[in-house]
This record gives sequence, C-alpha cells and structure tokens, in this order.
Amino acid sequence: MKTRGSLIVLSGFAGVGKGTVLKSLFETREGYAYSVSATTRSPRPGEVDGVHYFFVTKDRFEEMIRGEELLEYANYVGNYYGTPRSYVEEKLEEGFDVILEIEVQGALNIKKKVPDAVLIYMLPPGAKVLYDRLKGRGTETDEVIAKRMKRAMEEAKRVPEYDYIVINEDVDRCAARLHTLIRAQRLRTRSNMPFLEKLQADLKEVTEG
Ligand code: 5GP
Repeated sequence: MKTRGSLIVLSGFAGVGKGTVLKSLFETREGYAYSVSATTRSPRPGEVDGVHYFFVTKDRFEEMIRGEELLEYANYVGNYYGTPRSYVEEKLEEGFDVILEIEVQGALNIKKKVPDAVLIYMLPPGAKVLYDRLKGRGTETDEVIAKRMKRAMEEAKRVPEYDYIVINEDVDRCAARLHTLIRAQRLRTRSNMPFLEKLQADLKEVTEG
C-alpha cells in the first residue's frame, strides 16, 4: 500500500541558505518533489522559466486565482507568488514528499487549508552569521542588507506558528536533519490510516471468519 507523501512547507529569512540546503537534500536523498511556484516578478539573470518559477503576467496570475488553480498565493513586495495546485496533488498521491519554499503568509494559509501540512522554519545559528552571509553574497548594498535584517526581525515574530525549527549551521548536517524530520512524518498515525483500516478489517475477518 503506497503511503501518501507529506506536504512540507519550508520558510526562512533571506540569506539563511534554504536553496543550498535543499540542493544538498535533493542530490543525496530520494523521494522528493519540489513545487515550482508561479510569480509575476521578472526573472533575475540566470533564472529559467519552469525551473525556478513559472513567470506569468498579472492577468494570467489573476486568472489562475479565479480558476482555483493555486493552492495558496501571496503578494510579496509588490508581486504575486503562488503554488500551482495540480502538481502538488499529483506528487503527493504518487507518494513523494512535496516541498514548498514559500514565505510566511502563504505558509500560514496552507496550514489553515491543509492541517496535515508540516511547517518548518530554517534559522541561522546567530544574527552575526546571517549578516555575514548577506554581506558575503557581495550583491547587496549595506542599505539592502540592513532592510533584510530588519525584515528578519519582523518575520521572527511569526516563527512560533511553525511546527519545527531547523538551524543551518552546516549545509549537509542541516539537510540530514531536515530529511530525518520529513521521513518521520510517514510514521504519523494519520499517514497510516489506510493500513490501520485494512488491518482492522482483516482482524475482523480472521476473528469472525
Ligand atoms: P524571490 O523573489 O526572492 O524569489 O522570493 C521572494 C519570497 O517569495 C521568498 O520568501 C519565497 O520563499 C517566496 N515565495 C516563492 N514562491 C512562493 C509561493 O508560491 N507562494 C508564496 N506564498 N511565497 C512564495
């Protein structure tokens, strides 16, 4: 009997290293599907349509909202971001653990709509590390870095609403911990109801003949 996969929502401050940790996770472990979001923001250099995002117009995005094609969506810094529903449903049904890498507002909406979803927040080991990582990227001005740090302070207020916290002090160790946490969801009682129900039916048959 195939167990349905878990819906995993991963959020974290800008610069915490979500992308790097997920890359390590997908390269070393099986059974994951990554949900590619739709967005109305413009592609950054190197971003590929259908790989990093589905880049769509505002009209198309609003059509997706009306057509209920999105599992959740949010407006973030002036652009729409949303999770296409059909891919997620299909992959969960096939038994994959589906990862959504989304911001806080969308994550908490998912929690309301899909109570079984598992919300994980990735934190840096300390404020200084976050600052150094943002600085180390070398792509941001001091002003932008200060804005991102301020935003992190705001976002931190919502973290208690998440189910789990993982700390990214080391990429591979963080990926390993994330994997253990996600795999453990398969042992939850509610993930195994079809098995339990079949066992109950069989017990009845064996007992009562
Ligand atoms: P960026 O523009 O830097 O790629 O993403 C900005 C923020 O939007 C990030 O926090 C990212 O996790 C979030 N995001 C990406 N896709 C989605 C989505 O489908 N839904 C929501 N709610 N947020 C998303």
